[in-house]
Amino acid sequence: MLTIDEVLKLVRPEILKLKGYTCARDTVKEGILLDANENPFPRWQGGALVNRYPDPHQDKLRNALSRFTAIPASSILAGSGSDEVFDWIFKVFCTPGRDSIAIFEPTYGMYEVLAEIFGIPVKRFQLDREFAFKSEYFLDKAGEDIKVLFLCSPNNPTGNLMDAAEITGVLEQWKGIVLVDEAYVEFSGKPSISSLIKKYPNLVVTRTMSKAFGSAGIRLGYVLADPVLIQLFMKVKLPYNLNAMTQETGIMELEKIQEAVEEIDLIISERRRIESELAVMDGIEIVSDSQANFVLFRYAEALSLYEKLFKKRIVIRDRGTQYGLHNCLRVSIGTPEENDLFLKEVRRSLNE
Ligand code: PMP
Repeated sequence: MLTIDEVLKLVRPEILKLKGYTCARDTVKEGILLDANENPFPRWQGGALVNRYPDPHQDKLRNALSRFTAIPASSILAGSGSDEVFDWIFKVFCTPGRDSIAIFEPTYGMYEVLAEIFGIPVKRFQLDREFAFKSEYFLDKAGEDIKVLFLCSPNNPTGNLMDAAEITGVLEQWKGIVLVDEAYVEFSGKPSISSLIKKYPNLVVTRTMSKAFGSAGIRLGYVLADPVLIQLFMKVKLPYNLNAMTQETGIMELEKIQEAVEEIDLIISERRRIESELAVMDGIEIVSDSQANFVLFRYAEALSLYEKLFKKRIVIRDRGTQYGLHNCLRVSIGTPEENDLFLKEVRRSLNE
C-alpha cells in the first residue's frame, strides 16, 4: 500500500515543478470582466453563456458530479471524454525511454494508441480464459519499469467485471498507479471502486457520461482520485478543456438522473434478451458475462455474418483480431426495435 508521498515519487519531476498556466478566470469570476479579451456582448448556446470563457475549475459541474458519485469535488476533474483523462495520465506519470504501461488483453484500444503517441512501451498481460483479471499473475511478472496498470471494468469488449478483491490485491502490494476504467459501471448494478481512492492514493478511477447518461456527443468524462493527483491533472490539462455548453449540459443531465436510470434498466433487460436469443441460435456462443451495454459473441463465420448485417445497414463491431477473440463480434444494445431487427437479420443470415 502506498502513501501519497510515495505516489508523488511516481510523478514526472517536470510536472511536479511545473507552475501551470494561470488564466484570467482562476480567481475572479464575476464583476466587470475586462480581463480576458472576450467579446462583451452576451451570447447563449445550449443553456450556456458562450461569449465568456468557461470555468477552468469546473466548479458547478464538479459539485454536481460530487453529489452523484458521493466523492468530494476536490477528488474529481472532468475532461473531454474519459479519453482526455487517459491523456493526462501519460503526461503526469510517463517519461519516454524510462517508463512503460501495462494492459490486460483483450481490452479497450485507446490505452495503447495513447502509449504509442507518447512513445511509452506497452507491457502486455492477458486476462484468463474467462477474461478474469488475476492479481497474482500480474504481481509475479510486473517489472520495475511499469508506471501505470490500465484495467477496464466492466471490460470492453468482453463486458465482464473485474473482481474488486483482485484489484485491491494489486493496490495492497504493487508500487505503481492502478487506473480502473469504469466507463460501463452503471450497467453492472455494482458499486464503483472509487470509494477506495481515500484508502489507496495510487488508485485512479475514470468514468464517463458517454454511455449510461446517453451523452457521448457532449464529450464529458471524469477522473476520481486523491486531491493531490487532481491538482496535478489540473496543471497538465489545457486551461479551458471543457466548453461551457458541455459543462451546462452535464449538470442538466445529472439533475434528471431518473430518466437515465429508466434507460439503463431497459438497456439491461434488452441485453439479457439479446443474450438469451443469440444463445439458442445454431453455432452462436456468448463469450462472456456482459455487465455492460453490449454483448460479445462467437460464430465460426463471423466475418460473413458481419457483412450480411452490414448490407442490411446493421453495423456491429468485428473484434476478431483482438487477443483471444477469434471470430468474435460485438453488438451494442440498441432500442428494442433495433434489437428486434438485429436478431431477425442474424436468424435469417444463419439460415441462408
Ligand atoms: N473506456 C472504454 C472502456 C470505452 O469503451 C470508451 C469508449 N468506447 C471510453 C473509455 C471512452 O469514452 P469517452 O467517450 O468518455 O471518451
